[in-house]
Amino acid sequence: MQVYVEKTKCTGCSHCHDVCPVAVFEMKNRKGNDVNTDPAPAESQWNGTSDPNVVSKWSNINDGHRHFADDNDGKTGGISVAVNGEACIMCQSCLLECEGECIVITDNDNNVYRSIYGK
Ligand code: SF4
Ligand code: SF4
Repeated sequence: MQVYVEKTKCTGCSHCHDVCPVAVFEMKNRKGNDVNTDPAPAESQWNGTSDPNVVSKWSNINDGHRHFADDNDGKTGGISVAVNGEACIMCQSCLLECEGECIVITDNDNNVYRSIYGK
């Protein structure tokens, strides 16, 4: 199983980190040296700029966690990195909980699964 985050769309909500039963995700600081260490293609790695459509949707939502904060305070903020994708058991929890709709999972038969968020 391969897992990556399209980081330009990640709000830093930490839902993926909180729901994954096998610790695939770690929250990293956006300005850290280890933010682009999952197998995302170059266009999906963090380059300092968030997707404007995701920013306009989430930046003013007050739902108890921070969006687009540079740092991770242990609860929210920062950016998610799929550091342990090979451990994924395809429970689909993160795919349903990802605000930014930015998690991509490829199984061993090359089927690709993308996150959707209940509107
Ligand atoms: S689908 Fe995989 S990465 Fe996502 S929460 Fe489940 S085990 Fe973790
Ligand atoms: S659930 Fe999605 S938007 Fe939230 S931190 Fe994880 S990858 Fe980013």
